[in-house]
Amino acid sequence: MKFSIITLFPNLINSYISESIIKRAIEKNSIEVEVIDLRNHTTLKHNQVDDYQFGGGKGMVLMVEPVVNAIESCKTQNSLVVLTSPQGKTWNQNSARIYASNYDHIILICGHYEGFDERILDYIDLEISIGDYVLTGGEIASIVILDSITRLLDGVIAKDSHLNDSFENNLLDHPVFTKPIEFRGKIVPEVLTSGHHANIEKYRQEGRLRNTFNKRPDLLEKSELSKSDLEFINKLKKVKGDN
Ligand code: SAM
Repeated sequence: MKFSIITLFPNLINSYISESIIKRAIEKNSIEVEVIDLRNHTTLKHNQVDDYQFGGGKGMVLMVEPVVNAIESCKTQNSLVVLTSPQGKTWNQNSARIYASNYDHIILICGHYEGFDERILDYIDLEISIGDYVLTGGEIASIVILDSITRLLDGVIAKDSHLNDSFENNLLDHPVFTKPIEFRGKIVPEVLTSGHHANIEKYRQEGRLRNTFNKRPDLLEKSELSKSDLEFINKLKKVKGDN
């Protein structure tokens, strides 16, 4: 999959993609990342890409022409053009899954300052927000989108790890432990060192259910639960005095 990221701050993107799992995904050709400097796509003097807004008011606005030029420099028939914006559809794990399996090329446009000239909306496919808060720029949002898609692509991380991640079947992940077995009196649950796979899986499934029940009970309504899952949830409810 290819990502083209249009930004005023290429170094912000380059520094993230040159480390860890994303770096390896690039080296293994699982993804290609093209970082496009918006300033290279203006025809104005001094690489100008923003100006004051008509009607008055604080904050500079990114001009339509350089953004459209930048989009057109990388867009093909198969590209999906995404504008990062707090006004967009909220990104979540399900969006990451859908994009990972349906698109070959995603163009991510990072805003800054007051935002974009509204006419840019004619050149994009959709606006995506990473949550109900306002960031100074779209770079973090683009990285969130790129990262959450990339780790779902084949061969980027071990398949089992994302199949057990939070939000699979609308459950949170189970608790995990590593060495040492004892830390300040707290001991790793014995079942995890027993080598008994069925008991370990039962412990983990109950851990997923307990975590979701305690931290994100809203998700439970959407998850597909087995008879034994439901029995365990009922036990949790009784302990909490919910019924
Ligand atoms: N004035 C705009 C508004 O209130 O809708 C906010 C502009 S914001 C300061 C600058 C840029 O940061 C946006 O154009 C967008 O690219 C990015 N941005 C800010 N918050 C975001 C969010 N929650 N999700 C995605 N991108 C965001």
